[in-house]
Amino acid sequence: MFQPGKGRVQISEAQIAERIRALGAAIRQDYAGQEPHLVCVLNGAFIFMADLVRAIDLPLTLDFLAVSSYGNAEKSSGEVELIKDLRLPIAGRQVIIVEDIVDTGITLNYLLRLLEARQPASLRVAALLSKPSRRQVEVPIHYLGFEIEDAFVYGYGLDRAQRDRNLPFITSQ
Ligand code: 5GP
Repeated sequence: MFQPGKGRVQISEAQIAERIRALGAAIRQDYAGQEPHLVCVLNGAFIFMADLVRAIDLPLTLDFLAVSSYGNAEKSSGEVELIKDLRLPIAGRQVIIVEDIVDTGITLNYLLRLLEARQPASLRVAALLSKPSRRQVEVPIHYLGFEIEDAFVYGYGLDRAQRDRNLPFITSQ
């Protein structure tokens, strides 16, 4: 359960940019000679996705899906619903799921199962943020921006009751 004021997180625009450069370089190295297919999980990952793809110096394709998560409440219902599916097939592709934040792991676990069933050649995860202390389901994160404490964060694509996605930094207050 989310507890307001429990922790404090501040990640600056410069820190985010530096970390994304490193993630882009790692992906470039790991997928050299291939053409990865990046899947953005809307809405929260849209800014991370936009910056990450520009940090990957490789030919790539991308697509979007949307799942329901917290809505306007700052807690997880434990249920995931696919609101918008991918436009493109992923069978035989080198797929990287791009998520904003992994909290309980329920959403990512659902997505991994959903996409694995479509038989991609490989399936990895890039997540900007992770709250390991909140995990209920163990999920792999191959490319992680920042590990954070248990605090509700917003900004840089993540919302606070649908607002504040346009903040260029991440904050918990
Ligand atoms: P999980 O299924 O891992 O519990 O939650 C994943 C989703 O919950 C994220 O994609 C995100 O939409 C939302 N979420 C989890 N923690 C936070 C948070 O601290 N701030 C915001 N804005 N969303 C969060």
